[in-house]
Amino acid sequence: MNKFSGNAHIECINPQCQAQYDVNETIFKCSKCGDLLDIKYNWNKIAVPAKMSDFGKRWASRNNALDFSGVWRFRELLNFCPDEHKVTLCEGQTILQKNDMLAEYLGIKKGRLHLQYEGLNPSGSFKDNGMAAAFSHAKMTGAKSCACASTGNTSAAVALYAHSIGIKCTVFIGSGRIAYGKLSQAMDYGAQTIQIRGDFDDCMKQVQSVCTKLNMYLLNSLNPFRLEGQKTIMYRIMEGLGWNVPDWIIVPGGNLGNSSAFGKAFAELKELGLINRVPRMAIINASGADTLAELVNKRGLKWNGGSVEEKIYRDYYAELTARNFSPHTCASAIEISRPVNLKKCLRAIDVCSGIVRAVPDEQIVDAKALIGKYGLGCEPASAATIAGLKVLLAEKIVRPDETVACVLTGHCLKDPTVTVEYHRDKKGLFSNPPIEANNDIDEIIRLMQ
Ligand SMILES: *Cc1c(COP(=O)(O)O)cnc(C)c1O
Ligand SMILES: [Zn+2]
Repeated sequence: MNKFSGNAHIECINPQCQAQYDVNETIFKCSKCGDLLDIKYNWNKIAVPAKMSDFGKRWASRNNALDFSGVWRFRELLNFCPDEHKVTLCEGQTILQKNDMLAEYLGIKKGRLHLQYEGLNPSGSFKDNGMAAAFSHAKMTGAKSCACASTGNTSAAVALYAHSIGIKCTVFIGSGRIAYGKLSQAMDYGAQTIQIRGDFDDCMKQVQSVCTKLNMYLLNSLNPFRLEGQKTIMYRIMEGLGWNVPDWIIVPGGNLGNSSAFGKAFAELKELGLINRVPRMAIINASGADTLAELVNKRGLKWNGGSVEEKIYRDYYAELTARNFSPHTCASAIEISRPVNLKKCLRAIDVCSGIVRAVPDEQIVDAKALIGKYGLGCEPASAATIAGLKVLLAEKIVRPDETVACVLTGHCLKDPTVTVEYHRDKKGLFSNPPIEANNDIDEIIRLMQ
């Protein structure tokens, strides 16, 4: 069964294969069958707290960096690496914000709508949760250099964490497809930035070949250690709800790392007896990059106990290639048409009775303006959650008395261009453009009425 006796090992997700690898290996796809990899734990060797609220005790020792980290505070639940290799930049100091004004606007009962603002991370997006875990693995395995393909936030997070362990970092981005805030971070944090003439899917392909050829450490969400760090977003949502699970988790879907990680988090908590029910999950695509919605809702793709009918998505990808399709949405973080974590996401949908919706850009930017007006603000991809929630309420799939937690994945200053154009050019329902006035007190006061 399990040939590894330590706390954790790497295992192929394909139930027909289940190949196992040492946790000290640097491997991102099963070398036997090519499928995705998971981190598996020997739970009986790990002193997991008896109840989730026990993790809260660590707040009393916040001067210990590992207790302060919103990732490592939950270290027993991602116990793959000894403390001396754990990397932290104090990620995960994020807020679950109860938002009654937005709830009222959407017609949800008071006290039921919550926004998990992951924009408060060191590089301004949830990606830092994953990087804390993946860079710990990189350090543990003695990586000398690293790389990622990125729509922006991954490159910012990788660039930031790379210098925390002192290794060289190269990021691959598609030309003209990256939000300015994000590009500025990669350059400022000192990453070598390669801009490929192509889209994210092209970058993703190239980076995998480059990492194999040059033996570089890969930091895309294909890296299973990243997803271990991202599980903690769910633990913190529970923490914000008094260690209860919500009825719904709503998350934007791009490369599907988050949704996959969230599903794994809840499956493990259930297995450990730390929760007695799992929440439902809604994954929201942008209409211009709606692969998951298409595959799940129209073509019937499902986890199927691990026997995923690969022909369904292979055929679809072939169609995309044949019509030279490139995804387009203002939510650049989810502008992805061949999500690498597709299979794991199908598993998460299975675990969490998940559903998928796609929302057009106009609804995304309006939702973003509402989150800005009533909440802490966010970048466009994050706002797909509220746009999706609106659709699900209209469909009566989410009920107004259910507890909902939307993951706001990135900071509102990540993509100032979309925000400025929305308001200045009066592009939506909630545009709030600046009013021009002559340098004259009477005119200024008149315009302010
Ligand atoms: C990366 C990213 C996403 C997409 O997340 P996946 O895990 O790839 O589905 C969504 N929003 C923001 C802000 C991101 O940076
Ligand atoms: Zn395999």
